[in-house]
Amino acid sequence: MDFHNQTAVVTGGTRGIGRAVTEAFLAAGGSVIATFRSNSDAANTFKAELGEAGERLTLAQFDVTQEDQVTAFWDGLDSTETSVQVLVNNSGIRRDHVMAMMPTKDWHAVLDTNLTGTFLMAKAGVLHMLQARYGRVINITSPAGQYGFEGQANYSASKAGQVAMGRSLSKEVAKRGITVNCVSPGFVATELIDDLPADAVKAHKKSVPMKRFGRPDEIAYAVLCLAAKEASYINGATLEVTGGL
Ligand code: NDP
Repeated sequence: MDFHNQTAVVTGGTRGIGRAVTEAFLAAGGSVIATFRSNSDAANTFKAELGEAGERLTLAQFDVTQEDQVTAFWDGLDSTETSVQVLVNNSGIRRDHVMAMMPTKDWHAVLDTNLTGTFLMAKAGVLHMLQARYGRVINITSPAGQYGFEGQANYSASKAGQVAMGRSLSKEVAKRGITVNCVSPGFVATELIDDLPADAVKAHKKSVPMKRFGRPDEIAYAVLCLAAKEASYINGATLEVTGGL
């Protein structure tokens, strides 16, 4: 896969799965704008560690839940005539509670980040891509959206919403050369799930046919496949990368 002369925006692109996606685009010759919300230490360390490839990485700090910040980000790209071909909506959070005990603020925090953040970025992203009549939008969802997991009503709803919203959008923009798809990773060892107790990790690994968690680079490979020019007839799809879960 060749991403020379292409620019990808990867939200949450400085840690975990997003970081691996950023690295994969850079390795394939692309330029990346990796966004993050608050962990500037992780972002700056990541860029410094990349060496020469880091010259094709731009960092952008803003909150995907804030429409004014999202708009300012895309306006900034337009004003510098930066053309974006790929948008990966990867930023996400968890705030797990059984629903009967779920604080409403944690319902909103997860929906705002995972679903409204994806909406705001995708809305501005496709408007940007329409000019070139070419684009690839990839939302990182989760099997939680399909199955619903205990303690994750907010997260599951947000992840199901990303798929449904993506399918609607895919129908709206297909004739303009823009595809919209989802990647649904299984368990991947990142900071997002490092609070899971050891017995839960053991049980989850046992439930995966491959008997292990996925690696971020294994998710990144799927993202790049959908982002490739050659993936021109894959639209409105969800690619499961779960080790067979
Ligand atoms: P991490 O917690 O490792 O990284 C999350 C990233 O999202 C960080 O870069 C963070 O920024 C950014 N972020 C969070 N909130 C916001 C916000 N409001 N505005 C902008 N950026 C934000 O998560 P993962 O890499 O594990 O997860 C990435 C995606 O993959 C998520 O959507 C998650 O739901 C999904 N996923 C993960 C699975 C897993 O097992 N890990 C399984 C299935 C899906 P900062 O660095 O500043 O905090």
